[in-house]
Amino acid sequence: MKKIILTGDRPTGKLHVGHYVGSLKRRVELQNSGEYDDVFIMIADAQALTDNADNPEKVRQNIIEVALDYLSCGLDPEKATMFIQSQVPELTELSFYYMNLVTVSRLQRNPTVKSEIQMRNFEASIPVGFFTYPISQASDITAFKATTVPVGEDQLPMIEQTREIVHKFNTVYGETLVEPQVLLPDNKACLRLPGIDGKAKMSKSLNNCIYLSDSPEDVRKKVMSMFTDPNHLRVEDPGQVEGNPVFIYLDAFCKDEHFERYLPEYENLDALKAHYTRGGLGDVKVKKFLNKVLQEELEPIRQRRKQWEQDIPAVYKILEEGSKKAEAVAARTLAEVKRAMKINYFEDRELIEAQAKKYREGQSHA
Ligand code: ATP
Ligand code: MG
Repeated sequence: MKKIILTGDRPTGKLHVGHYVGSLKRRVELQNSGEYDDVFIMIADAQALTDNADNPEKVRQNIIEVALDYLSCGLDPEKATMFIQSQVPELTELSFYYMNLVTVSRLQRNPTVKSEIQMRNFEASIPVGFFTYPISQASDITAFKATTVPVGEDQLPMIEQTREIVHKFNTVYGETLVEPQVLLPDNKACLRLPGIDGKAKMSKSLNNCIYLSDSPEDVRKKVMSMFTDPNHLRVEDPGQVEGNPVFIYLDAFCKDEHFERYLPEYENLDALKAHYTRGGLGDVKVKKFLNKVLQEELEPIRQRRKQWEQDIPAVYKILEEGSKKAEAVAARTLAEVKRAMKINYFEDRELIEAQAKKYREGQSHA
């Protein structure tokens, strides 16, 4: 069986370091591993509209931002197909058929949908499109027969829902679709990177992000203002590293070699954590170190972004070509789906013959 990746992002803002450690960095590694037959990366504009219906301009403006972030992280149009969801109408058609395989109560139980409804204060007035977006996500994944979906932890219930739809479809209509596997980050700190404010998730919608395209000065300011252990008031106080965003970011980003370069008095992160826990290590010193680590990781991304920013029409061209390629693949799957569901009347010679025969015989009996 072919090995195929599909994943994507909503164009609701620029991408941040949570996206980077949760999914983007992994995508680039997988793209370069040569182990996959195809890599599809989708800008989920139709999904973004499910909770931004009154703000299409926001979605429109952020398409290019997300595409620039992709290219600056090293996604390569030669190796990965980058495309825009709304430009592949087959995805919508698949969703319409999958809707028959999912119950309302199953959607209501989806933990990601539940928490996102709460986050958006949608309780009393959930748009139907938003409520059903897990189904649309199943279409996105299955249209490309994706075997592997690299995402952050918040997406686990979505992939589970997709697997259920695939299972149901194949049971009812015969083996057609592929059940995808989720690929979570290996590093625990990257599963769900917290915000700089200490909130559980760095998220475009919560305004607590360090963006991949932030200037060095913005990154420095954000790091220096980060939430830490609120009980660690004086340098001598013992501090807590668990749940402390500064240390979670270090878990996500720093390697032993960073200590050699920027903080040689410590051998590694364990030694730094031990000192913080014991007391006698101030937040400012740790934050300055984190700033250096982040700047080192983000600098090449920023440089590549500056280059691509000089050629915006070329970036749109990449998306246009990617969308065409994606549509051709999705159309093949949709044709298989319709055949399996017996809604392929005109290509079904047997059906036409059988109906003709039935009526011929009916007439001869009359
Ligand atoms: P929105 O607030 O509009 O939902 P978002 O910041 O949650 O935006 P998405 O586009 O929904 O971003 O998520 C894209 C991908 O990035 C998903 O795979 C998701 O799991 C991952 N991701 C998002 N935020 C984080 C985070 N803080 N830590 C790890 N992974 C993340
Ligand atoms: Mg999200």
